[in-house]
Amino acid sequence: MAIQNVQSFVAGHWVDPNDAARTIQSAVSGETIARAGNDALDVAGMLDHARHVGGPALRKLGFHDRARMLKALATHLSAHKQVLYDVSFSTGATQADHLIDIDGGIGTLFVFASKGRRELPDGPVFIDGSIEQLSKSGSFLGQHICTPLKGTAIHINAFNFPVWGMLEKLAPTLLAGMPAIIKPATTTGYVAERAVRIILDSGILPEGALQLVSGSMGAMLDHLTHQDVVSFTGSAQTALHLRSIPVIQQNSVRFVAEQDSLNASILGPDATPDTPEFELFVKEVHREMTTKAGQKCTAIRRIIAPEDLITSVLDAVSVRLGRTIVGDPRDKDVQMGALVSAAQKEDVLNKVADIASEAEHVLGDPDQMTLRGADPSKGAFVPPMLFYCADPDAATSVHEIEAFGPVATLMPYKDLDHAVELANRGGGSLVASVITRDGEVARSVVAEAASHHGRLYFNNRDSMAESTGHGSPLPHMVHGGPGRAGGGEEMGGIRGVMHYMQRTAIQGSPDVLSAISDNWVPGAKKEDASIHPFRQTFDALKIGETLHTDARKITLEDVDHFAHFTGDTFYAHMDEEAARRNPFFPGRVAHGYLLLSFAAGLFVDPDEGPVLANTGLDGLRFMKPVVPGDSIRVALSVKHKTRRTADYGEVRWHVSIINQNDEPVAEYALLTMNAY
Ligand code: NAP
Repeated sequence: MAIQNVQSFVAGHWVDPNDAARTIQSAVSGETIARAGNDALDVAGMLDHARHVGGPALRKLGFHDRARMLKALATHLSAHKQVLYDVSFSTGATQADHLIDIDGGIGTLFVFASKGRRELPDGPVFIDGSIEQLSKSGSFLGQHICTPLKGTAIHINAFNFPVWGMLEKLAPTLLAGMPAIIKPATTTGYVAERAVRIILDSGILPEGALQLVSGSMGAMLDHLTHQDVVSFTGSAQTALHLRSIPVIQQNSVRFVAEQDSLNASILGPDATPDTPEFELFVKEVHREMTTKAGQKCTAIRRIIAPEDLITSVLDAVSVRLGRTIVGDPRDKDVQMGALVSAAQKEDVLNKVADIASEAEHVLGDPDQMTLRGADPSKGAFVPPMLFYCADPDAATSVHEIEAFGPVATLMPYKDLDHAVELANRGGGSLVASVITRDGEVARSVVAEAASHHGRLYFNNRDSMAESTGHGSPLPHMVHGGPGRAGGGEEMGGIRGVMHYMQRTAIQGSPDVLSAISDNWVPGAKKEDASIHPFRQTFDALKIGETLHTDARKITLEDVDHFAHFTGDTFYAHMDEEAARRNPFFPGRVAHGYLLLSFAAGLFVDPDEGPVLANTGLDGLRFMKPVVPGDSIRVALSVKHKTRRTADYGEVRWHVSIINQNDEPVAEYALLTMNAY
């Protein structure tokens, strides 16, 4: 078989490995399949290219353009994923593992593409939170905004998910508007290189948006500035080394770390063997131990079960693990493939020996394996290995040593407090799961454990059919954890995009804030509409353009009519004495919904035109009661515009309903879809 030269992509050119390259072996056959590494890469030139070519090109686009780009990339990768499946078998991964790594990575791109369109503005500035009132009369306001950093995102990835690990970082980075230099783990970098090649060949990304280092990255990190971000996934040891690089500290380079984690799963006290929760627990433990041969940062390492159920759990987990078919990952019946390399196997076996000093090795002998279609002397195979630790309070290694393979330790707990105490001994984890149907158990665990874990996963018979799995980080949810897990956060929807942006507090007058954010803010100038805004296309509407309506008097007959017409005969609208006894009202008051309806009657232009639909209201506040005899008028201002499809966009209007004394009685944002 030809040995693949795993190339780097440097400033627009593919570069071969040189004499400094490392050889890479198949996890399954042990044969050399690739070589990667070049110690003469122009790493400073790569940073320069990203900063001066990729960054400006990405920042020329708005968030929605970049979200569309992610969607196109996801679609393109999806069409070419068979190539990635084919090469990934050599990493020891099964087809089921590919679905997590390759399809999971593509799915993550799709989610960020869709969230980017729905949750980010169609422009260059993200508005973070509400306007802050910094002055009495509102002439000086505050607003937080986020804009893309002007450096490069350096992505250093672990070996276990060469595609997902790359795409889950790339999606938020590109969406933010930052270029990336990716450095995959060398052992599986040949898969990442294929994925990068597919992405670059698509022509979807602007020049300089993506570069690749295959092998060592040399002194690249010594050139970083405060505008760069390092996003690292790997071992705690490497993270500590990289965090300690003087330039990273001197320049306060943002460093996001995802490290190892001694994740726990707790069987709730209610989940006895006769409940569906018990079987669910056993299934989750089995899946987490065997998927990717346990080389998953979120895998269950500690199985925590009630002491009176420990024998039942031990038996059920052992039976299920014992049935696992291990072997050639290309074989469709094989459930667990190989570890990624001989070195990884040696590391796992060394760590297993440490764990065995405090826990009984109850299942899985690496020297007595039955493999399907594979040679144990050539590939990096190990069986699922289960340990039992009778005294988890006295033990340390089971809470501290991460054997990055199909290895877990079962331990008993006395009561729920004890279970949580054990789970928290991981020193900060990515995820802990609790299988329970008891809401009080869930509440107690959250109170004592949430601070120690990046994610808490609860599952039971009600959610199991649609649950996503203890070990699956989702693009919508934060992935990361405190302490040992690295103290970082990735993904979590738009939260993940913020790592690649600078938050800036903006202070100024309402007009200045409106201009910066492209968003009319209260107090900013309003331009009287010369023609009715409903007669204007999306493109013609100007931010701040305002329609002032005539006034309408509210009568007692209106209130009566509305009450009987709608059926809303709440006493505050119908009974003068009862309304007076209420601390909020001077007597009978108009319905809030009547005010909204009359407001629409005042500002709507009835004829067919560019306004296509009313899609909702946001932030509705009734500020002052309206009593019969009062009159109301409306100021309708264009607040913000967002292009949505090729034919129409969303207009956000600021609606202010004002009484005869010029006091606001209700305010809200109205959303309409308007043709261009
Ligand atoms: P690793 O040895 O720490 O390597 C991680 C990455 O760092 C690799 O790309 C590696 O490149 C690179 N690296 C190592 N030394 C470097 C240096 N001096 N300068 C720049 N880059 C350097 O970890 P791994 O063995 O690949 O992954 C297994 C570990 O990752 C496990 O401990 C696991 O728990 C953790 N992990 C965590 C998560 C998470 O999301 N929290 C996910 C997956 C894995 P080379 O390959 O070229 O050495």
